Amino acid sequence: LFAKECVFVAGAATLEMLPDLPLNEIAFAGRSNVGKSSLINALTNRNTLARTSNTPGRTQQLNFFELGGRLYLVDLPGHGYAKVSKSKVEAWTRLVNTYLRGRPKLRRVCLLVDSRHGLKDSDREIMSMLDTAAVSYQIILTKVDKSSKSELKSVIEITEKELAKRPAAHPNVFLTSSHKGIGIEELRAEIASLA
Ligand code: GDP
Repeated sequence: LFAKECVFVAGAATLEMLPDLPLNEIAFAGRSNVGKSSLINALTNRNTLARTSNTPGRTQQLNFFELGGRLYLVDLPGHGYAKVSKSKVEAWTRLVNTYLRGRPKLRRVCLLVDSRHGLKDSDREIMSMLDTAAVSYQIILTKVDKSSKSELKSVIEITEKELAKRPAAHPNVFLTSSHKGIGIEELRAEIASLA
């Protein structure tokens, strides 16, 4: 699946712009700077698909990419920016919540979490939105090349403990490094199985 072409099909900055699409969707969420663009680019073998941007608040829209005519990858706008106004946070929440609740073809959300930092409150807020919307989600730890084995072991343990307290069961915590190519092939296989 990932050997096929991946093309941008739509961007949605408002509720009215959310496209009605025929294929299953896998969405990616995460705090700003978590490595979301890098991971999507690594998965799809592209350098320019999701623009790597360190400018907070730049990409406040959902971007839909069609993969091999079989699946959409959806890049959700980042959350947890420090300097964003309350009204922007509310707009973000409304848009993402509406998306999550209205997508019968959304098979899974990959919630990216920096392996050095673990879950933050803004991640927990998304997890609550996902639980309420009854959307299956999986925690993807990013930048694992930056952490030692023992640090990883502890962050996995803490994350799994927290997941276990949630109402639904969740797929295993996944380890990735876009820079070192760790976990990329495995994540591709997992995503392809949901197409
Ligand atoms: P986004 O804001 O979530 O889209 O994050 P980016 O993909 O733009 O990455 C944010 C920063 O983290 C950039 O400086 C990347 O080079 C760095 N980064 C992303 N993935 C990795 C990784 O796997 N390992 C390391 N060491 N750095 C990474």
